[in-house]
Amino acid sequence: MKYAESIVDLVGNTPLVKLNRVVAGATEATVLVKLEYLNPGGSVKDRIASRMIDAAERDGLLQPGGTIVEPTSGNTGVGLALVAQQRGYRCIFVVPDKFGEEKRNVLTAYGAQVVVTPTSVDPDGPESYYSVSDRIVRETPGAYKPNQFANPNGPRAHFETTGPEIWNDTDGRITHFVAGIGTGGTITGTGHYLREVSGDRVRVIGADPEGSVYSGGTGRPYFVEGVGEDMWPDTFDPAVPHEVLAVSDRDAFAMTRRLANEEGLLVGGSSGMAVAAALRAAKDASPDDVFVVLLPDGGRGYLGKIFNDKWMRAYGFSNAPEGHTIADVLA
Ligand code: PMP
Repeated sequence: MKYAESIVDLVGNTPLVKLNRVVAGATEATVLVKLEYLNPGGSVKDRIASRMIDAAERDGLLQPGGTIVEPTSGNTGVGLALVAQQRGYRCIFVVPDKFGEEKRNVLTAYGAQVVVTPTSVDPDGPESYYSVSDRIVRETPGAYKPNQFANPNGPRAHFETTGPEIWNDTDGRITHFVAGIGTGGTITGTGHYLREVSGDRVRVIGADPEGSVYSGGTGRPYFVEGVGEDMWPDTFDPAVPHEVLAVSDRDAFAMTRRLANEEGLLVGGSSGMAVAAALRAAKDASPDDVFVVLLPDGGRGYLGKIFNDKWMRAYGFSNAPEGHTIADVLA
């Protein structure tokens, strides 16, 4: 019989697929995307969750019956909730209000408790999602905060799994790796591995929302979720990417829609952002070049935003009509 012992054992080993229509006319290179939404929790973050919890148990930071508290965009929460459920820990997640309600409901479904905080506040102020989670940790006995923005097990998970998977699946022919930067764990761990294993031949390219600090911004707000920062976390090593490209919300969302519409890939906004950056970087690439772009999560959590024409119009990201009448479709 072929089966996994537990859902947690199915994390990783995600496939690569070639982009076809969105690449036509944009580059001569082969562009492959790594489908992290096929992880059991639906995102790349499943990879770091079990590794962070294992390490906390080993270091005595998390005791049986303990509580995991984390500020998270949702995806890390899902990964943590999956592992916590298997091992009997309680989970409390602190989520900024800009994140979709669907994402928060997913966390609740996995059995976690969710506290929502305002987005447009000083990150050092008492209402920020960092401060609120710190307070919950302080006032909850047996609480442990994995702190994905400082936990070395994040980049380590990618160095040990994501990087080798990409290298093996491309038979070492990858020439460029492109990923968005949130905590920076993905690009730091994967990029470090790929540079090392290739004798520093692989070029590593970061993708960042316009306004975020990684591409020289000031932390100005943007709508794409899960990437960009208004501060520099410990999990990001700026020496790993050779360059970081800024992508506007408009370009990120337009590419996100194209990936669903033309490639059958229903993915999130940070995936569209990474592909938009990759196509810009690949503009003058040769036919021998192999770009691998990591797509962090699926599009189901964004149906009310990026995939909602009304929302896209309201924020000036699209001129598409809001739905069609029977007369439109029969015309
Ligand atoms: N995209 C999405 C949707 C995410 O949730 C995250 C994680 N914050 C990222 C991209 C960025 O990954 P990392 O934190 O490893 O830089």
